[in-house]
Amino acid sequence: MFWAIIIFFFAHWFLSLFFHTAFLHRYASHQMFSMGKITEKVFYFLTWLFQGSSFLIPRAYAVMHRMHHAYSDTEKDPHSPHFFKDVFQMMMKTRDIYNDFVRGIRLPDTQFIKNLPVWNAMDKFGDNLVVRIGWGVSYSLFYLYFIVFQDVSAWWLLLLPVHYLIGPVQGALVNWCGHKYGYQNFDNGDHSHNSSPLGILLMGELFQNNHHKFPDSINFAKRWFEFDFTYPILVLLASVGVIRFNRQKIS
Ligand SMILES: [Zn+2]
Ligand SMILES: [Zn+2]
Repeated sequence: MFWAIIIFFFAHWFLSLFFHTAFLHRYASHQMFSMGKITEKVFYFLTWLFQGSSFLIPRAYAVMHRMHHAYSDTEKDPHSPHFFKDVFQMMMKTRDIYNDFVRGIRLPDTQFIKNLPVWNAMDKFGDNLVVRIGWGVSYSLFYLYFIVFQDVSAWWLLLLPVHYLIGPVQGALVNWCGHKYGYQNFDNGDHSHNSSPLGILLMGELFQNNHHKFPDSINFAKRWFEFDFTYPILVLLASVGVIRFNRQKIS
């Protein structure tokens, strides 16, 4: 029955990642496409549902991400790997800046606050400690059921921390690897790289070099051997009218 755990793991990984890259990154931060107010709420809710215990509040994410583009790999970049000894230190610093924005301790520069999706009630609920712990308990119970009743090895419990922190783990992989390892198609004046073929597991997010060159382009793949598999999903959603590509941002 270990396959149930594998399916659960990858379903959580890719569903969480899709809403991370589509809603938090391409929509909230870059506004590569538009959607109606109700659809926006549905995406917002699904982002919470799939990120669960590590739900990232869209407005805080978007402000940090816009800073990342404006100051890529300089000291003002909130998470450049070139200013930290290891990925954990980078994650801690990123978390501190994120928390400061969420709690209003740090106010974002006005150039970064245009058109942010805001749903205060959802933010408050998703950020509630009891709700976050509730998600963690749910993931744990799922694993424990298969270990206790289906004779699955307890080693699978080692995957649980990834579920607890799925949003930041995916963000840290992108920010660390995407600005350190791989190849460059363009000279962007920073350390952004494309990390193919590992990129396939991050749904296009690891084409950082392409993305920093064309931050408004919905398709992060730029060469024949690159494939951003979030892009065809967005094309499908646009073709059935769920979202609308902003015309100047299609490429
Ligand atoms: Zn980047
Ligand atoms: Zn971006």
